[in-house]
Amino acid sequence: MKDVYQIAVVHGDGIGPEVCAAAVEVVKAALGPDCPLRFPEYPAGAAHFLKTGQSFPQPTFEACRAADAILHGAGGLPGVVYPDGTEAGLDFTLRLRFELDLYANIRPIKLFEGVTSPLAGVKAGDIDYVILRENSEGLYAARGAGALLRGQVAVDTLVQTRAGIERIVRKAFELARQSNGAPRDGVRRVTCCDKANVLRSYAFFRSVFDEVAKDYPDIETEHALVDAMAMHLVLKPGHFNVIVSENMFGDILSDLAAATVGGMGMAPSAEVGDMNGFFQAAHGSAPDIAGKGIANPYGTILSAAAMLDWLGRGHDDERLLRAAEQIRRVTEACLANGLLSADLKGKSSTAEITGNVCDRLAA
Ligand code: ATP
Repeated sequence: MKDVYQIAVVHGDGIGPEVCAAAVEVVKAALGPDCPLRFPEYPAGAAHFLKTGQSFPQPTFEACRAADAILHGAGGLPGVVYPDGTEAGLDFTLRLRFELDLYANIRPIKLFEGVTSPLAGVKAGDIDYVILRENSEGLYAARGAGALLRGQVAVDTLVQTRAGIERIVRKAFELARQSNGAPRDGVRRVTCCDKANVLRSYAFFRSVFDEVAKDYPDIETEHALVDAMAMHLVLKPGHFNVIVSENMFGDILSDLAAATVGGMGMAPSAEVGDMNGFFQAAHGSAPDIAGKGIANPYGTILSAAAMLDWLGRGHDDERLLRAAEQIRRVTEACLANGLLSADLKGKSSTAEITGNVCDRLAA
């Protein structure tokens, strides 16, 4: 347990500052006047790139590395790109993942009471699984390193290492062990999602998965090809408990999965390595709704709760674990009471939702 925890806060672009400020307010409300967290702010993102020519200043990187945890709103703006067409505003998230070795991207997908799923006949509690996205290698490790030849040929390479696969698969089994199993049958199950029938790299991912699985005989295992998985997540979401996949597949599936539980605004994430933890909602900067005060802050608030959990467990700090639990409880109650933003077909503004969550936490 520490007296003070430094949280490096980077607001980012679009709705980033709106949802990030909401999450900081909520964390402060949950921990009360003796809050042991400090929230120094640092610049990064597409808007900062336009202003200064730098998307991720070195001092921001150093501060993030040294902090106890990193909290982010969202980064990137369409059109703010490098000459090769890639987005400048994504540097912050991508560099942190690769340079701080944040190999596990944990994305809980849960349908809460009060939120309507676009899937027919699905109610709260029927969808409750985790997508565990390998976050430090895979296809995205090629960012900035692929070849573009004479404007005619472009190549990016998918990298998978035995050590990288082993550690993410172990994490998947550990998450399954801590869980209550799949909603449909209560079975603790890890699904390996790949494209092993086509590419050698995914067949390797699957073979390492099968080796590691032998150490967890108490957990059921299965394989699913990513294309079939896109269908399963729509047709039988209640079957899943923990899904582990390569980086890009995890990215794509998490947007599909988020849509089934109310949309991107309802999708928290925790990106953790052995040393550092980085917390932001799974959505982007949503420039179409930025500045209107209507962004859904729940995803970032739940990501902040995950941050408190991670810090609390890492530092054996009951105060933080309790605060995380309270934030989750109050969030669920607010959703169940119809405190919904426009993306959830409600009328509540970001400020109303945040204020209500804080008031309930203080009560
Ligand atoms: P990225 O690739 O950076 O993740 P994206 O292109 O997937 O970004 P997002 O910014 O995640 O796009 O959002 C897609 C759309 O979903 C937005 O345009 C917005 O309408 C909606 N959306 C995303 N996040 C939220 C939110 N927190 N509240 C309300 N609507 C949101």
